[in-house]
Amino acid sequence: MEKDMVYVIPCSGIGKASASVGREAAYTVVEDERPGVSDTLCLSLLTLGDEEAQDKVRRHRVITIDGCARDCAKKNVEAAGGTPGSSHRVHDYLKKHKDLKPEGVLDIGEGGRRLAHLIAEDVSSEIDDMVKGR
Ligand code: SF4
Repeated sequence: MEKDMVYVIPCSGIGKASASVGREAAYTVVEDERPGVSDTLCLSLLTLGDEEAQDKVRRHRVITIDGCARDCAKKNVEAAGGTPGSSHRVHDYLKKHKDLKPEGVLDIGEGGRRLAHLIAEDVSSEIDDMVKGR
C-alpha cells in the first residue's frame, strides 16, 4: 500500500443534488484543503474496468463520498479491488443538518455548499490521520 496519496472518490450521480454536494466536497478537499496528499479519479473509469484507475484504488488509501445509501462509489471501489478506509453519505449529513438542504443539481446553493464544506472538513481530517499513520 503506497501511503503518499489518498484518493477521494465521489459517486457520479447525475440528476441528484446530493451527488452534486458529494462532488463539491471531494473537489474542495483535493483542490483547496489537502492538495498534494489527495487526489480524485472518475468513478466511471473504475466501472468501465480501466486498469490504471483500478491500480490506483488497489495501491492507495481511498475515501468515498456517496450521495445516498446505494453507495455506488464505495461498491465500485470494492468491486475494483480497493478497500475504502472511510465512507461517507451526503444523506447522513443532511439528516443531521436539515437546514442545509441543497437547492438543485446544477447549483447546490448556499446550504449545499455549506454541507459540502462540512463533509470536506471531515474528509480532510481523516486524510491527516491517514498521512500521520504513514
Ligand atoms: S450513491 Fe446514490 S446519488 Fe450516488 S450515484 Fe449511486 S444512486 Fe446516485
